Amino acid sequence: MRPVRLLVTVLLVAPAIVAGCSDTSGLQRFEYRQRHMGTEARIVLHAADSIIAERAAAAAFQRIADLDAALSDYRLDSEVTRLAAQPAGPAVPVSRDFVRVLARALDIARRSDGAFDPTAGPLVMLWREARRTSRLPDPQDLERARMLTDWRAVTLDTVARTVRFARSGMRLDFGAIAKGDALDEAMTVLRAHHTPVALLSLGGEILAGDSPPGQSGWPITITTASHADSTVHLAHRAVSTSGATEQFVEIDGQRYSHVIDPRTGEPRTDRTTAIVIAPDAMTADALATTLTILTPATRSRLLAAYTDVRAHIRRSHQD
Ligand code: ADP
Ligand code: MG
Repeated sequence: MRPVRLLVTVLLVAPAIVAGCSDTSGLQRFEYRQRHMGTEARIVLHAADSIIAERAAAAAFQRIADLDAALSDYRLDSEVTRLAAQPAGPAVPVSRDFVRVLARALDIARRSDGAFDPTAGPLVMLWREARRTSRLPDPQDLERARMLTDWRAVTLDTVARTVRFARSGMRLDFGAIAKGDALDEAMTVLRAHHTPVALLSLGGEILAGDSPPGQSGWPITITTASHADSTVHLAHRAVSTSGATEQFVEIDGQRYSHVIDPRTGEPRTDRTTAIVIAPDAMTADALATTLTILTPATRSRLLAAYTDVRAHIRRSHQD
């Protein structure tokens, strides 16, 4: 495997105020980093003192850790993994967090006509194995996984908080949406701790809360390989980048991404990158991934339904 070359990167510009210094409102800037969901989680926040800041950040990190424990497809004890082991038919009780994320995932699946599909779990597992072994999946296994991938075969009861699969062997995967949701939830925790002046990031996802005092937003620089950098000031907005820093494997000269087109069962092989700016991180995360799968016409149709979302797409044919 070759290292991934960055096509698009989103850089967080350090705000003018440095850690520990007071700003005009008497707040100080604090910054914390921890590893979560297989990547680095970063919290920058402004608070009156270090005790308030540390307590808020610790609670926000804990929320991310709890969501990872419920939603991860890598963990054997997560709700996602436990549900995958259930036979088709009976309604299985799930947590509030699970219901929230699955409801949003099914909504985006419907709007994208299945380009985004939270039931792509069996395909994701097969192609993850292919990445590990550098060998293409067996065609029969691939066909079986493709038949199990169908968001319409999931019944979610949001009142009773249960999930039902129509086929045995189905498996949910929240890999394209869970990081965004975790940031939204972490920001809710920071608000509850009265520290809403915050900037969060988790892998390729960024979420800006209230603006730092005296500023119109958090400065975020969007750098692309082909265009000049542009800095935007964002508050109450999320940014997600897809296709830039993604994992991939090369087999027989063909490059396979970790994002799968559920309609073919095959991973994306082109180098389309998408940057999405949306009011919440879950929408930004899911849409950025979805936009890299769709054709230009279906992309426009999907985006027409999201009036408060901005998207930049870049197609790259070669490195
Ligand atoms: P990127 O940042 O490259 O857009 P994400 O990390 O947001 O990617 O999402 C990729 C992950 O989403 C994959 O690793 C897999 O777990 C899951 N996934 C892959 N294809 C799909 C799909 N078509 N619909 C929903 N989830 C998918
Ligand atoms: Mg995503």
